[in-house]
Amino acid sequence: MRRILIAEDEPRIASFVEKGLRANGFTTTVTDDGRDALLLADSDDFDLLILDVGLPGRDGFSVLRELRARGRRLPIVILTARDSVEDTVAGLEGGADDYVPKPFRFEELLARVRARLREDGAPETTVIRVGEAALDLRTRRLTVGARTVELTAREFGLAEMFFRHPNQVLSREQLLSHVWGYDYDPGSNVVDVYVRYLRQKVGEARITTVRGMGYRLEGSGDGDGGVTHAS
Ligand code: CA
Repeated sequence: MRRILIAEDEPRIASFVEKGLRANGFTTTVTDDGRDALLLADSDDFDLLILDVGLPGRDGFSVLRELRARGRRLPIVILTARDSVEDTVAGLEGGADDYVPKPFRFEELLARVRARLREDGAPETTVIRVGEAALDLRTRRLTVGARTVELTAREFGLAEMFFRHPNQVLSREQLLSHVWGYDYDPGSNVVDVYVRYLRQKVGEARITTVRGMGYRLEGSGDGDGGVTHAS
């Protein structure tokens, strides 16, 4: 299991990132202080560091430079305010692997995290099958039986959540924060609207409404959730 250190001092964002990563099978540790982040990351305990720039104790760039100066090679994904992307690009030259501007959707962060870990040698998940439907994570196409369906970016984000968790009830809140981001209005009905769009593409009966709880992608028993890895 991949271990991720999250250095983020805004509790709402730290918890959003932590929940999302755990739901995707990662082990997480959170710190809200730059000095602690340096201490923790300067060990062999983590596979990747998600590093906020504005941290108390020691700022993210300084943590980054110090880790690289000490020869730590772990992948680092920087979280930065959208209006300081220029500074961040300077930070990348200082040894970060990637950055994600805030506010971000969880899906964006997850893609960066997966990409960085993959370079590290992990196999890439490319096709997830549930029943006769298959979602290709690389081409972002959905195949249902012999039919290939194009998805919009949001539909793909939603489909990916369902396909990664077949036969599980996903709440509106989970779907909203995962696909739309933590800044989205929780009173919005956008999830319901997009579930309708997705049903039209994947088959009406494939996504069940679980009253008062959320939605579930129905598999058909054995063989569902099968994952193909790129060779
Ligand atoms: Ca901060």
